[in-house]
Amino acid sequence: MKKLSKITLDFLNRSPKLFIGNEWVDSFSSETIPSVNPANGEEIFRIAEANDQDVDHAVDAARKAFHKTVRDMNPSKRALKIQRLADLIEDHLEPLSQLECLDNGKPISRAVADVKAAAAHLRYFAGWSDKIEGSSIPVHSPNIMVYTRREPVGVAALIVPWNFPLVMAIWKMAPALACGNCCILKPAEQTSVTALYLANLIKEAGFPSGMVQVLTGGGKTGALLSHHMDIDKIGFTGSTEVGKKVLEASSKSNLKKVSLELGGKSPNIIFDDADMDRVHQSLVWASFYNSGQECTLGSRVYVHKKNFAEVVDKLVQKASELSMDSGLLNPDLGPLVSKEQVDRVMGYIDSGKNEAELILGGQRKEGDLSGGYFVEPTIFSTSNHNAKIVREEIFGPVVNVTSFEDEEEIIAYANNSRYGLASAIWTKDISRAHRFAHRIEAGVVWINSYDLFHPAVPFGGFKESGIGREMGKSALELYTREKAIWTQL
Ligand code: NAP
Ligand code: MG
Repeated sequence: MKKLSKITLDFLNRSPKLFIGNEWVDSFSSETIPSVNPANGEEIFRIAEANDQDVDHAVDAARKAFHKTVRDMNPSKRALKIQRLADLIEDHLEPLSQLECLDNGKPISRAVADVKAAAAHLRYFAGWSDKIEGSSIPVHSPNIMVYTRREPVGVAALIVPWNFPLVMAIWKMAPALACGNCCILKPAEQTSVTALYLANLIKEAGFPSGMVQVLTGGGKTGALLSHHMDIDKIGFTGSTEVGKKVLEASSKSNLKKVSLELGGKSPNIIFDDADMDRVHQSLVWASFYNSGQECTLGSRVYVHKKNFAEVVDKLVQKASELSMDSGLLNPDLGPLVSKEQVDRVMGYIDSGKNEAELILGGQRKEGDLSGGYFVEPTIFSTSNHNAKIVREEIFGPVVNVTSFEDEEEIIAYANNSRYGLASAIWTKDISRAHRFAHRIEAGVVWINSYDLFHPAVPFGGFKESGIGREMGKSALELYTREKAIWTQL
């Protein structure tokens, strides 16, 4: 890793402000929250905490901009600005990836990949800006004409988590802007730095004042947004617990539109006829990618009993070889995001030790890394499908491996979850693969692969994993509302 660039260091030295109406403003309370480098626990930055007055200020700026300029903006101009933002993100790849790496802890090469993915996502949605169409509907009367329009919702608050800070922000912002909305981005309190950096690029890209605000703060700020009477939409990614609170806040305020991308406990199923070389290559990443802080993590691994010993041995070997260090040194795995997350994950590991066999890991990293939030890749094995570590989302580098015997049995196990985000099946039997794909209760199925994403492909969960589909054409539904217009001729 090269030294941190001057732009990165200068950005970390700036004072905590909020971005409202294309300006950097002080928060009303002047309260701040520290942001920590999870590789060593040291404070690197402070963010402002937006209170009710700041939220009102941001909503007012967004609402005015929506009525004054944004609602009637030429869609191809919107597209150009979104493309310009993608260009700027690519131009600022170095500081953005360095800041993401420092703030979240992820390996620098992964941060670079995230920044590139954010730009690609913007480009895909820029293309939709001038293709948002309604329809004309025949109602079998010569004297009546009906057509529909898809209109922007107005002001959308985008509340995002800390595991993929920039990418999650852009997953929401790109369709919100393409559909002609104004938005208020609320990054997670642990990882707000790249959202703030993005604000400067938004201004430079030429978006009109008020089209995008960035409000930092903790859960209180998120709750104020979800309860606000003049916000039309919340796009949320995070825990199922908080997602339910957002939905409840909508029902108690103005019934704002809500889309939720929540937790998961995804089954990764390996049949005995799978291509084992590909399984071994993929499984270690499906199990420990982003140090396990991934909503699609394949945290329930099911292996056919014939290959169970071989697959588990190989997974143990590959997981033991993963390097772990500060993200700036580009290891395989970085630290977890925070002390709270380490405590949470270690709590699950402790409960796993009582209910399952510990096959690998189970410790925090000692020695040089003890100041940071490092947890070893951890593998448990239990066939108790009701064990806590099998039912609950851990959001850390922890998986459970279980053996199975036949197709009926494994579909029942796979669906035995309150979550339904992602799933994978490894088999050369194409009929079995598609039978499974049709019967699994999950929003995503990967056949002979894991964690494939593309901006054009809808993503989202069944059951308690969420409501709505981000990405692809489906995302346009989240950020528009449909109107039917009747004319008597
Ligand atoms: P979280 O609390 O759900 O955080 C997600 C976002 O919601 C953050 O911006 C958060 O602000 C905000 N928020 C918190 N309370 C809110 C409220 N009452 N109303 C509206 N917004 C609110 O997640 P977390 O605390 O960071 O992590 C806890 C667990 O959630 C993790 O261990 C993991 O299991 C799960 N998680 C899942 C995903 C996913 O992609 N599925 C992502 C992250 C976390 P603050 O930053 O102040 O909390
Ligand atoms: Mg939280």
